[in-house]
Order: sequence, then C-alpha cells, then structure tokens
Amino acid sequence: MELTEIQEALGAAHPSYRARQLYEAVYQLRVPDLAQVSNFPKPLRLTLAASHPLGLPAEAAHYDSTDGTRRYLLRLADLRTVETVLMPEPGRDTLCISSQVGCPVNCRFCLTALMGLERNLTAGEIVGQVLYVLRAHGLDSRSGRVNVVMMGMGEPLLNLPNVVKATRILTDPEGVGIPQRRITVSTSGIIPRMEELGREPVRPKLAISLNASHEEQRSELMPITRKYHLADLMEACRDYPLRPWEKLTFEYVLLKGVNDTDADARRVVRLLANLNCMVNLIALNPGPGIPFDTPEPARVAAFQAILRRSLPCFLRKPRGRDIFAACGQLKRIETLQGDTISVSP
Ligand code: SAH
Ligand code: SF4
Repeated sequence: MELTEIQEALGAAHPSYRARQLYEAVYQLRVPDLAQVSNFPKPLRLTLAASHPLGLPAEAAHYDSTDGTRRYLLRLADLRTVETVLMPEPGRDTLCISSQVGCPVNCRFCLTALMGLERNLTAGEIVGQVLYVLRAHGLDSRSGRVNVVMMGMGEPLLNLPNVVKATRILTDPEGVGIPQRRITVSTSGIIPRMEELGREPVRPKLAISLNASHEEQRSELMPITRKYHLADLMEACRDYPLRPWEKLTFEYVLLKGVNDTDADARRVVRLLANLNCMVNLIALNPGPGIPFDTPEPARVAAFQAILRRSLPCFLRKPRGRDIFAACGQLKRIETLQGDTISVSP
C-alpha cells in the first residue's frame, strides 16, 4: 500500500498522523508484524495485526554460492515461490528480484521460460522481496549501496502497473528510499509497455535484452520478436524519454557459434548507433534443457573489443552459477549435496 491507501484503510476513526506512522514503521523500520508498531497504543496494534497481516514473503530456502551470492526461495501467501538473489560486492549490494511467478515469454536460452507463466506478482510481493532481504541482512536502503534490478523471474513489463507501483514505494524518500537511479527494470522488448513506462513520473531505469544482431536471429532466440519486431524495438528505444542522468542499457547473452561472431558484433554496433546507451555482455549461463553452449573467454573478449570501439561495453560476471542463481537460471532448482533436482510448482 502507498500512503494514501493506508490512510483509506485506517479510515476517519484515527487521526491522520497514524497513517504516516504506520507507513514509516512498515517501510523505514521494516517491522515484520503490525503488532510491533511501537508508537501505536497496544489495543490498536493488536487489532490491526489481527485484521491486516503484512503479507511479507516467508523464506522457503536459501542457497549460498562460493562467490558470496545468496539465492532465496521466498514463499508467497498462496504457497507459490519466487526467487530473489542478493549479490554483495565491495561498495554495493545488488538485489535481483522477480516480477512474475514464471514467465510467459519463451526465450530459448532461459530456464525460467520453461515454467511458463503462473501469475503476476502484486506490488506488495515485489516490494516484499526487497524488504525481506534488507531485513535479513540488515542493509540500509538509504546508504547508496543498495541497487535493485528487476531481472529475476518474469517479464516486468507484462506486469507494468504493479512494477510501477512497487517502484513508487521503493523510491519514496519518506519510505524505503532507494533512489530511482538505483533501480533497473529489464525487458525482452514489449514495445507498447515501454512507451507507457516512459510516461511515468517515477520509474526505474530501462534495460533491453537485445541478445541478437538481426531480426531473423532474434526471432529464433526470442520468438516474441515476431510480435515486436527488432526495427520497431530500436525505434521505441530511440523515442524513449531518457532523464538527463540516464542511459539505456542493452543486455546481450552470448551463445557459442550462434550470435557471438565478429559480424554479429559489427551489426550490434550499427543497431545501436546514435543511441545514448551502454551494453552489458553476458556469456550464457548453462542449465538443464538449455540447448546452447557458453562461448570461450577469448571469443567473448573479441566481441567486447569490437563493441568497445564505439560504445561503453561491460562484461557481466556470472554470479552464483553454482547455486543456479545466475541470469536465466531461476527455475526453482534445489541444490542438494551437489545433485540438482527441479522442484515442481
Ligand atoms: N524478462 C526480462 C528480465 C529477466 S531476464 C528480460 O528478459 O529482460 C534477465 C536477463 O537474463 C535478460 O537480459 C536475459 O536475456 C538474461 N538471460 C536469460 N537467460 C540467460 C542465460 N541462460 N544466461 C545468461 N543470461 C540469460
Ligand atoms: Fe522471460 Fe526474460 Fe527469461 Fe525471456 S529471458 S523467458 S523474457 S525471464
């Protein structure tokens, strides 16, 4: 709930400052239960706690990588689970959160795609993942260290109203207080929703999963291209209203022998010419059922070198591959003493 919704829920029976106190207790102090709103009279706390469960996710499991990454399996009220990943680094902590249970977009290199879509997350469930991890690790959302990327399970722009509402809650300086420039949403290229997102006064930064250098190749890898063509996607990117401090990010998953040649790199440079943007390269994270291979480091470096001549281009370190926490691997895989088993929905 945003502040106005809390005001409505409390109703006229309470003085208006109560809504603000409640809002701060939930989003700043991050109480796990309304019975712990300490500046409320006890009877009010107890009545509220009984009538309004906070709805925060519960931990079903977590897995720790040798590189410090932790993958959480968080349980929602309907007992479905989503994945949330924390990647601590010197100087910053990145939280990768989910926007849907599963994903309806059928990218051929992504494990989440194999689940299909189970449902959208509510704004509360999106915010709840962040609150859960901040609380579990005692992280300070106002420290400037915390980054949020909506790159977990799901296609965020197919759940746009909830993603935008969650962003308003996460960025409100009176609440969780994560700056807008520290939140990024990634899309497979849902063009009409990109236009809608661009009109929102409060919105995350935008990243686009490009992943191919021409229409035919992208249609093979990301069949959604047959609906939202590459040329139209690039036009939507050119029209996207960037804020003064902002660049578009393009993500590119390198698949061995498929989209990783020098010719591909040169085509990507041409596609992105005249855009205020940067590129994040990701070498494929493998997984059971993914019919592609990871390119050798030398091929990745050669590809990056060609892009670098024309635009900023970074190589994304795979984080948490050993616990199936890396990009494209989120499909609720439980890791048991070295064996992997897939958890049924
Ligand atoms: N649905 C959104 C956000 C989640 S996917 C999107 O597709 O943009 C986050 C990123 O992981 C995307 O850039 C996607 O291309 C990438 N990805 C998917 N599968 C991958 C894999 N097996 N290895 C590496 N990156 C992958
Ligand atoms: Fe969905 Fe993104 Fe995976 Fe494609 S890459 S299937 S859009 S989560």
